[in-house]
Amino acid sequence: MATTVVRQAAWLVGWDGASGRHAYLKDADLAFSDDRIVHVGPGFEGPVGREIDGRGLFVMPGLVDLHSHPALEPAYKGVREEHGVPEMYMTGLYERATTFRTDAQGELAAAEVAFSELLLSGVTSLVDVSGVYDGWIDLLARSGLRGWVAPWYSSAAWKMEAGHKLGFTWDEPAGIAGMAQAEAFMAEAERHPSGRLSGMYSPGTIDTCTEALLRDTVAAAQASKRPYTTHIAQSVVEFNLMVERHGKTPVQWANDIGFLTPDALLAHAIFIDDHSWLHWRSRRDLAILAETGVTVAHCPTPFCRYGQLLEDFGRYLRAGVTMGIGTDTLPHNFLEEMRKTAVLARVAAGDIKTLDLADVLHAATIGGARALWRDDIGRLAVGAKADIVLVDLAHPHMRPVRDPLRSLVFSAAERAVRDVFVDGRQVVADGRVVHLDPDEAHDRLQEAQARMLADGPRRDFAGRDAETITPLSLPRMGANREPECTRTRPSGGSFNGELSAFP
Ligand SMILES: [Zn+2]
Repeated sequence: MATTVVRQAAWLVGWDGASGRHAYLKDADLAFSDDRIVHVGPGFEGPVGREIDGRGLFVMPGLVDLHSHPALEPAYKGVREEHGVPEMYMTGLYERATTFRTDAQGELAAAEVAFSELLLSGVTSLVDVSGVYDGWIDLLARSGLRGWVAPWYSSAAWKMEAGHKLGFTWDEPAGIAGMAQAEAFMAEAERHPSGRLSGMYSPGTIDTCTEALLRDTVAAAQASKRPYTTHIAQSVVEFNLMVERHGKTPVQWANDIGFLTPDALLAHAIFIDDHSWLHWRSRRDLAILAETGVTVAHCPTPFCRYGQLLEDFGRYLRAGVTMGIGTDTLPHNFLEEMRKTAVLARVAAGDIKTLDLADVLHAATIGGARALWRDDIGRLAVGAKADIVLVDLAHPHMRPVRDPLRSLVFSAAERAVRDVFVDGRQVVADGRVVHLDPDEAHDRLQEAQARMLADGPRRDFAGRDAETITPLSLPRMGANREPECTRTRPSGGSFNGELSAFP
């Protein structure tokens, strides 16, 4: 059993089990044998197979990413960052999801890119919410990540009925079959010899699943001892639809059908009843999230780009909600999500004291671990898994070093991440992923994105091309541009009312 020691780490984030929080150690040794940490603190004296000089390093636990779509989102680079539909309360989700779809080769390329970016930003545990595609298990295992495959299924598909209107194509048997396919796929992942893959039930979104499918999910998840996840309260459109269907907010309806339990991981939970955009009269949703013991996966990036905020992360914590963090979209940079979590909570609250960086790190590690029922990840403690991030304190963006966690989150981000270990196995070495080839994957992704965009007009409800739906950020030199005062979004008016087929 070979032991690796990081000797005399200048700074180290240790887990203080007595107080239940992370704390700094200085000039400490961290030793691990195989997949487990065997020593945290000064003076490790056991036999050593590999020694890493820690004097220029900041050592911290691997980060737990609770929400991502690796096979989907990388193909949206340059497409989605400024795409939103004002007539749908800014969200571009529905228009984009129904119009721009990558093919199977694109999904594999996208996932390899996303896994690489995630590892390079210190993620060691990942909830991967994707449609089942060939090669998913092999690629995720090869990446070296600790992965939860969450194959999504649903009873309905979204369709755009007009530039401002979301419709649904219901197919209940497809939802039931999709859940069965997900179960077979999760079981296959869990049998993988790496031992790092687990399954998570993933009914797609609260508005595309029948009550029966959601109830069946809870029962099956509990019987098979797997957690489950869905998207909920992610748009004003969804909030209004659920009120129209049930006379209740999405959170209250989910609670009433028994979906909100400590096993539930809820992506987003932004548009709860007291959100300022809703002017809803009840004030119960936040308490429900706390009392039911769910975990919220907070993903600030896609929403803030629409002009939307979770109101606010610190308030959720004080209400007693378990909070974790996810990346959801590009860039797959978990450290940037941590920065946005801190900054945007303060913007939403108008109060610098609504949270502090220790709260953010706790959510990014322990909050995530709790959602995954794990007390052996997200912390550097004897007996925990050797999921470890080594940060280069000599990197210019880390210096001057007074508070390395602040330097990392507010200045350096992934640029200073040097080495990453998962299960004691090195997956990032000197700022490069060890087991993946992101450069080659980018070549494939470039071609896949071109195919996706070319296919857009066929899928779009009004046959529009990508340049119309999401124009480039700058005009092409010499092209005529409308004066600012006459610009309107080209949608709705010319639509003839026919429903598009989807998928
Ligand atoms: Zn999502």
